[in-house]
Amino acid sequence: MYITAMVGEWFVTLTALAAIAALVAAVPVFLEMVREGRRRHRGLKTGEIERYREDVTYDATPPSIEEVPPGSAVCPHCGSVNDVGYAYCGSCVQEL
Ligand SMILES: [Zn+2]
Repeated sequence: MYITAMVGEWFVTLTALAAIAALVAAVPVFLEMVREGRRRHRGLKTGEIERYREDVTYDATPPSIEEVPPGSAVCPHCGSVNDVGYAYCGSCVQEL
């Protein structure tokens, strides 16, 4: 009984020490995260870093009926083009 209690105490102590060691080891990583955040903040303020912008070349509109190959079905739910003979959309799995 006494020995199991001692082993349990040691286990808890060693686990706590390992957790503390892991936190101490992670301190440089946390500091670098803070530094990177400040650098980005400063860069955005001065204009060195550009903000994310929408890709103007990407066309999100579904293809018009004229562009759809004959026999294929355009999904009424998501607008993607499906091949002949399918009852459900291959993109959004809704009924065609
Ligand atoms: Zn669909």
